[in-house]
Amino acid sequence: MSSTIPSPAVPAALLARDLTPSPRPGCPFNALRVRLRGVNLRPTRQRVALGWLLFAKGDRHVTAEMLYDEASRARVPVSLATIYNTLHQFTEAGLLREVAVDGSKTYFDTNVSDHHHFFVEGEEKLVDIPGTISVGDLPIAPEGMEISRVDVIVRIRKSG
Ligand SMILES: [Zn+2]
Repeated sequence: MSSTIPSPAVPAALLARDLTPSPRPGCPFNALRVRLRGVNLRPTRQRVALGWLLFAKGDRHVTAEMLYDEASRARVPVSLATIYNTLHQFTEAGLLREVAVDGSKTYFDTNVSDHHHFFVEGEEKLVDIPGTISVGDLPIAPEGMEISRVDVIVRIRKSG
């Protein structure tokens, strides 16, 4: 195995979360490789393939199982365990944000900016809440701690 070579500075534009392919005939896979190197992840074929499935379609919320299905359909030979590992590596590198809905269900959000979610019960779907919401009085963090982020998940279902 070759060791990871620290990458040179990556232009900020390439680190932007929007990785929709540009109309230029540039290679979108190359942009993805640059982005992976920018967060010190070696751009292996699997990472690039999974990154492509994740980031080429705009903001989305996927579970490991959903990504596994997509990878299978795209004929990317990858195990569910590798999918889990890759999703966690991407999350640790700041490319994804983890959103845990129940103890059991974890979604990975390609939009890493601060935002909140609706969870559609029955459809098991996570949807961004547009705009900002106000959260009432927050508790004071315990001594020596600070609030790092507030995640709000509003569970919704069909009315009537
Ligand atoms: Zn989201």
